[in-house]
Amino acid sequence: MKRRSGEALLLQTIDLHERDRIVVFLSRDWGLKRGAARSARARFSRFGGELQQLAKVHLSWFEKDGRDLVRLGDAEMIRSPGALHADLEGILVSSYLAEHMQVFAQEDEPENHLYRLLDTTVQALLAGCDRSLAARYLECWTLRLSGVFPAPRQCPSCGNALGDEAMLAVDGEGLLCPSCGAGAGANRRIGEPALAFLRRIGGAGLARLQENGGVDESTLKSVEAIAREVRRAFLGKELRSYGVMQRTLRDVAP
Ligand SMILES: [Zn+2]
Repeated sequence: MKRRSGEALLLQTIDLHERDRIVVFLSRDWGLKRGAARSARARFSRFGGELQQLAKVHLSWFEKDGRDLVRLGDAEMIRSPGALHADLEGILVSSYLAEHMQVFAQEDEPENHLYRLLDTTVQALLAGCDRSLAARYLECWTLRLSGVFPAPRQCPSCGNALGDEAMLAVDGEGLLCPSCGAGAGANRRIGEPALAFLRRIGGAGLARLQENGGVDESTLKSVEAIAREVRRAFLGKELRSYGVMQRTLRDVAP
């Protein structure tokens, strides 16, 4: 049995039996993990209120060879996700960000880039960053870090530089120059603002994008649609939390 400890971001908690919980977390140094938190549902649990989605905690856990499920030792809060869970939209966005990590992060491998991406995104949200901007930033960067959606600088088909216009490939596998796009039957034109956003996120952090006046809504909608298609093509399915978020926000809209 190995004892490990370190920083982690909590992604999901699932009730197990009457007293326990399963906690899915992204550890900074060992990637994605699933752990059993014994008696976490008991009234005076040692975990207290620490096991919340997107909480940043210092965790200790025990691993046994050949077992996927680890056993949680202690959890100590480093940063509470508090304000993010104060309203319905915040809860839905939290689940959406967390599911990206559950789907894209690997188990037992250091995931420093994904960890830092989620960590800085949550930090920016708690500091008041626009939620839609934060979600677009994280979804595009998750795809980029997974090697499926590079910054749009070059047409992957002919190799020519991409200018102010591109086409989304029919199969969702990236952005083509207008002539390759037309030749391949693409019919979704991507304009300059969305391309500029996808190029800017490479250099500017989320906080800087927000400080510089944010990004207008129509650009964010366009980026969301591109990321959705690319992600779907790569995963072969949609993220569960994305559908839930879309339906719920539509139903509660005034
Ligand atoms: Zn081309």
